[in-house]
Amino acid sequence: MLTYLDNNATTRTDPDVLTAMLPYLSELYGNPSSMHSFGGQVGAVIEEARAQVAQLLGAEPTEIVFNSCGSEGNNTAIHAALAAQPEKRHIVTTVVEHPAILAVCKHLEKRGYTVTYLSVDGRGELDLMELEAAMTGGTALVTTMYANNETGVIFPVEQIGEIAKAYGAAFHVDAVQAVGKVPINLATSTIDLLTLSGHKLHAPKGIGVLYVRKGFRFRPFLLGGHQERGRRAGTHNVAGIVALGKAAELAQINLAHTKREAELRDLLEYGILATIPDTVVNGGGAPRLPNTTNIGFKYIEGEAILFMLNREGICASSGSACTSGSLDPSHVLTAMGLPYTILHGSIRFSLSRYTTEAEIRQVLTVMPDLVERLRAMSPFNNDQAEWLQKRDLAVAT
Ligand code: PLP
Repeated sequence: MLTYLDNNATTRTDPDVLTAMLPYLSELYGNPSSMHSFGGQVGAVIEEARAQVAQLLGAEPTEIVFNSCGSEGNNTAIHAALAAQPEKRHIVTTVVEHPAILAVCKHLEKRGYTVTYLSVDGRGELDLMELEAAMTGGTALVTTMYANNETGVIFPVEQIGEIAKAYGAAFHVDAVQAVGKVPINLATSTIDLLTLSGHKLHAPKGIGVLYVRKGFRFRPFLLGGHQERGRRAGTHNVAGIVALGKAAELAQINLAHTKREAELRDLLEYGILATIPDTVVNGGGAPRLPNTTNIGFKYIEGEAILFMLNREGICASSGSACTSGSLDPSHVLTAMGLPYTILHGSIRFSLSRYTTEAEIRQVLTVMPDLVERLRAMSPFNNDQAEWLQKRDLAVAT
């Protein structure tokens, strides 16, 4: 049996979503840009999907631009915002963004832009005074995530947006992890541009959306055909678009039931903290997504925990990324200033509407013994653990 608790990485395609999209991978293969009615009928379903996505976001259908993924949305949003105000050369973002933001910012720095990376505190939260201090009349764009993919920590996007607007900057939000998990109403929002990705909300991979506020001076990133009213060239991924429309409709219904997900998440969190010593919830004190928990298990490696969980059929994810053969700790947890003993031993569990109590209880059953065995083998034996703890304390003070 598979226990899938890695839904922030990707989600299972909902069976109803699959049913909705399949005809567009088989008999209804027409191109919506064609002049004949065989293609034209496909154009109608694209507009239906656009309306479904708009409904989930409290947006207007014309503000929805279909694309391929969250990474494309983020790249496009940044380039569009800079093109809209070419005289401005400053960007404000945060240290905990997804690489699809950070890598673009690093690239732009090499091309003469200045980027301010706002810090986070130990709970993963921003200091809005720091944002205020970073803003200037030359700030073209503020881009922040809605919710962090590793910790689930939610940023106060509307407050951020108000500050951005006060300085005449465009405001982009990477809402890839938030859409479908928390209610979003763009009709009453300060957000100009918002990124979402289908595969995080039970649609398949390869479909996404960039929301572009009506009246925003948008410059396309992909040039070519005039699909999406000239805002994104490329033949439509019809099946993906239909799938995302259905997934958005289902996500809207699910928003009323996220309390159940949060209860299961809390059951997991409290269960682990109660039965395993030296554990801590990273970002636990901040507002968080209902489906995410990131737990630090001191004195052991996250990768070892994942390996053992995998043998039990449990899928989770570590806070660490394997870069060039070396195990670098997560940039998010590092930015939170977490001690060494937590940085290297953190695991993210992310739930979905498919998660069952039985799955959570399975994790709670296997985890204490698994952690005890790893700690017994850990090179950080008790003496070293004590030494590390002292070192962490010394660093913290
Ligand atoms: N932004 C965030 C916060 C994410 O978590 C992800 C994916 O994990 C992305 C952007 C990139 O989305 P995609 O995989 O659709 O390119």
